[in-house]
Amino acid sequence: MPYNIAIDGPAGAGKSTMAKRIAAELGLVYLDTGAMYRGIAYYVVKRGVSPEDREGVLPMLDGISMDIAYDDGMQKVLINGEDVTPYIREHTISMAASTVSKIPEVRIKLVELQRDIASRTDCVLDGRDIGSYVLPHADVKIYLDARPEVRAVRRLDELKAKGTAGNMTYEDILADIVARDYQDTHRDFAPLKVAEGAIVIDTSDMSVDEVAKAVAALCTR
Ligand code: C5P
Repeated sequence: MPYNIAIDGPAGAGKSTMAKRIAAELGLVYLDTGAMYRGIAYYVVKRGVSPEDREGVLPMLDGISMDIAYDDGMQKVLINGEDVTPYIREHTISMAASTVSKIPEVRIKLVELQRDIASRTDCVLDGRDIGSYVLPHADVKIYLDARPEVRAVRRLDELKAKGTAGNMTYEDILADIVARDYQDTHRDFAPLKVAEGAIVIDTSDMSVDEVAKAVAALCTR
């Protein structure tokens, strides 16, 4: 049986940083499931359909074939063969991904792919519903959390480091995080929540190394 680690939590809690680190330490594949929702959001928005418009999105789903590939350890999201990875990190796509991910049919399509990958790969998956819905029997379930203000600072620092903050302010990012938290925790189908059996780590007042140590201590094969 493959070894699967589920890391869930809200935006900016440190999921991807920790998932990448533990994947490298244990030699596991890292599957960023948020990138998959972002890929669908990008595809839909690019074709002029609102991510809110279920009737508009549904007929598009059958025409979307998603593949996950790795290039030098970096995950790529391919839609119908096109690498959409360079476009999915834009600010507007974050909220669009949260909105399109409310549609159950979108989730079911992506969950199928996530389960398929997890069933044949030792991997760490990060997302919102991995421990609660996608892989309720994952070997390790972790829920990373942090105060919204702390997460907003981290996001802003991250964007600045990448040179993509533009004229976005701390207030803009905090508002986006709060809106996304609300939408992700209030949707009907597979909302963000602490999975049964998950270990909660509040990273607000912890350094990256401290969190990494706590995570590593849980991930013993
Ligand atoms: O993690 P990331 O910020 O890239 O996720 C973008 C959005 O995709 C989230 O706000 C959430 O609504 C959605 N998502 C989800 N389930 C997952 C991963 C992401 O609903 N497993």
